[in-house]
Amino acid sequence: MRETLVLNAGFEPLSTVSLRRAVVLVMQDKAVVEQSHPGLRVRAARVDLPVPQVIRLRRYVRVPFRQRAAWSRRGVLVRDRHRCAYCGRRATTVDHVVPRSRGGGDTWLNTVAACAEDNHRKADRTPAQAGMRLLTQPFEPTPADALVLALGLRDGEALPEWLALPTSA
Ligand SMILES: [Zn+2]
Repeated sequence: MRETLVLNAGFEPLSTVSLRRAVVLVMQDKAVVEQSHPGLRVRAARVDLPVPQVIRLRRYVRVPFRQRAAWSRRGVLVRDRHRCAYCGRRATTVDHVVPRSRGGGDTWLNTVAACAEDNHRKADRTPAQAGMRLLTQPFEPTPADALVLALGLRDGEALPEWLALPTSA
């Protein structure tokens, strides 16, 4: 996957994001293209953009770059793309792998997105006690994930697959 460098409004490098994410940021007027691939454009029905190599955010954002992204329920849902860690269906709740009542904390590594049904079924137990298996292991968001969280991008704003494929001009 082609990566695009993201600069903060003050030109400090923040992170890299996927080309698709970069195009979304430009289309949403959250960023401007500072440097693009010569001769490569992203083309679609209502889009004709140079393929960005470097974009710069229009507004200065405070990003927890090189630091841990602050934990939040919304952040867990975005990190897990609103997919339940137990069944893969749409998740609207956040489950504590080790329940809070057993000392489990509000941390990235102890929380996963879960559908309401599985969250209710697991209740106040660990996955082992509930006889449930995690399909994916929770992880700390990368700086790129942290940037996406800080920009408040919502799930479902990704462009279609085909738009991510640049064509020669
Ligand atoms: Zn589920």
